[in-house]
Amino acid sequence: DTFDHMGLQENLLRGIYAYGFEKPSAIQQRGIVPFCKGLDVIQQAPSGTGKTATFCSEISQQLDYGLVQCQALVLAPTRELAQQIEKVMRALGDYLGVKVHACVGGTSVREDQRILQTGVHTVVGTPGRVFDMLRRQSLRSDSIKMFVLDEADEMLSRGFKDQIYDIFQLLPPKIQVGVFSATMPPEALEITRKFMNKPMRILV
Ligand code: AMP
Repeated sequence: DTFDHMGLQENLLRGIYAYGFEKPSAIQQRGIVPFCKGLDVIQQAPSGTGKTATFCSEISQQLDYGLVQCQALVLAPTRELAQQIEKVMRALGDYLGVKVHACVGGTSVREDQRILQTGVHTVVGTPGRVFDMLRRQSLRSDSIKMFVLDEADEMLSRGFKDQIYDIFQLLPPKIQVGVFSATMPPEALEITRKFMNKPMRILV
């Protein structure tokens, strides 16, 4: 049970250790390898068990850093959480040169557009602003190959269901999906049935 045996890139491991993590948490131990093999994975674990670093590692491992186009999209239920994920992604991917931007409501649309124009590998955001950026084509979806829903149950209870569905419609059809959630209410299961391909379910 170490990060060393997961087949992760050297520069990602450096980021993980520099961040202060020594050993993977249970969800990291079980979730990172299957997602990095390209599988759709439902990763169900209570909050505070290290889910953020799980999907940040999964994404960082799989990005093509030579291609400065958005390849991964992460949705989170709140602005604060999206910005926190942005920070973790940036820290873990420091030695990889990851470019990440948080698109959240309550900030300048033009500033979002300016940063997206300069090119990023990953976007983290709340559903409303992300949908807006996709609709305006300020965020191009052509190269997006990973889609992660963080706190899916929370997003659904906040009424983001339609917006999540709308976003799915704007993404390329063949996309790897990761759903992270503390609980799996019927609406969350519906999302996994509609948008995931033979998902593996990991329960911690
Ligand atoms: P999360 O569930 O992603 O909100 O993470 C909860 C807390 O656990 C955060 O403070 C993380 O920095 C911390 N954490 C996540 N993974 C590890 C790890 N492998 N070792 C030590 N702390 C961790």
